[in-house]
Amino acid sequence: MAAKVCIINIGNELLLGQTVNTNLNWLGMELASIGLPVNKAIIVKDESEEIKQALQEAWQDNEIVIVSGGLGPTDDDITKKTIAEFFGKDPEFRPEIWENVQQIFKRRNLETPEINKSQAIVPKDFTAFENKVGTAPGLYFQSRDKKLFALPGVPSELQYLFTGHIKEILKKDYPSDAISIRTIHTWGISESALAEKLAGLKIQQDVNLAWLPQTGRVDLRLYGADKTAILSTAEIISDKIHKYVWGYDGDSPAKVLQEFCLRKNVTISLAESCTGGLAGKMITDVPGASGYFNGGVISYHNAMKEDILSVDSSVLSNFGAVSEETAREMALGVRKLTKSDFGLSITGIAGPEGGSPDKPVGTVCFSISSEKETISKRVVFNGDRSSIRFKAAEYIILLLIEYVGREA
Ligand code: ATP
Ligand code: MG
Repeated sequence: MAAKVCIINIGNELLLGQTVNTNLNWLGMELASIGLPVNKAIIVKDESEEIKQALQEAWQDNEIVIVSGGLGPTDDDITKKTIAEFFGKDPEFRPEIWENVQQIFKRRNLETPEINKSQAIVPKDFTAFENKVGTAPGLYFQSRDKKLFALPGVPSELQYLFTGHIKEILKKDYPSDAISIRTIHTWGISESALAEKLAGLKIQQDVNLAWLPQTGRVDLRLYGADKTAILSTAEIISDKIHKYVWGYDGDSPAKVLQEFCLRKNVTISLAESCTGGLAGKMITDVPGASGYFNGGVISYHNAMKEDILSVDSSVLSNFGAVSEETAREMALGVRKLTKSDFGLSITGIAGPEGGSPDKPVGTVCFSISSEKETISKRVVFNGDRSSIRFKAAEYIILLLIEYVGREA
């Protein structure tokens, strides 16, 4: 049996909903990847009694406890003191840590504030892991067959300390098979319609299947200890629903589009209205986008659509800015303007105002224009302004993947 792991995330901001608990998400994936899936997570306030209660429960029921947050030098950071009290270990000053903290400030050309001296205090019998990306060291305590690690809350520091120090210790002391995960990304089909398509499928008992609806699309995740079984099941599923599959694992729509375009040696450009540049951002988030993305026009005002994209004023007045007709002219216009192989366009009503009975909020029109033809689509998305804009930006990317894929 794999060792049991418990995570304790400390921070009022996590419970107030001001900070998303990405540390749990990141640690969960890392630990699963070395065969130590998290057994339990406890989120507590920055309060000594609450932290002690959480430690009590975690230390009693688990072999590995990882604490995050509250290791900083300020008054609200009480994790270290609380851990020291819980284990009955006196605080000790470690000059080498103080030296490291001072070096970090020196490199930034700053005086080291006296309060940072507290970061060099470590409970007796604890190991301190050097933190090269911040000033709070990671802490490690081992007692018989149990281990406790305490990490700063800042995600980059937590990740540095876990990857650089903790992962190796855990891999060595708890060798086990990693959990294999295969994620299949789908688009253009609802969760329930997918479930229907896969209804008759017999899945091996040790292969777990999770349905993960994303904004506007669905991911299927297969996981378990048997890598071969995971991969072969993923292949069977992909074959059954291949029309809807656009990528796997860490793929993003923009990354897959980039691979397609570079392979086929085609260039694209974008005319965006309601997404205000979001699709362009997604595309250029992927390094190397200049290899196929020529650029884009954010044509929010109708005058921009006419003057820069050559949208006919009669099209705008007859069909409206949010129409398949206008989308077509925008796509054609941006393709010609930028001399690209494909011109793409998005025009829609992201809300909350501006809807009408025949064009409700969430109505978005898309178009893809190439030398050969110009296609267009009209979709109505649910959700608030930001989710409508997000779905619309991804939609045009996924629509082009589907289109180029069909041509392949
Ligand atoms: P610092 O030295 O910066 O004070 P710390 O160890 O005391 O580090 P916190 O004060 O708890 O950590 O948090 C520092 C920053 O990290 C905050 O911006 C906080 O929102 C963020 N953070 C804390 N916990 C998490 C978490 N579980 N997931 C994501 N971010 C977190
Ligand atoms: Mg802090």
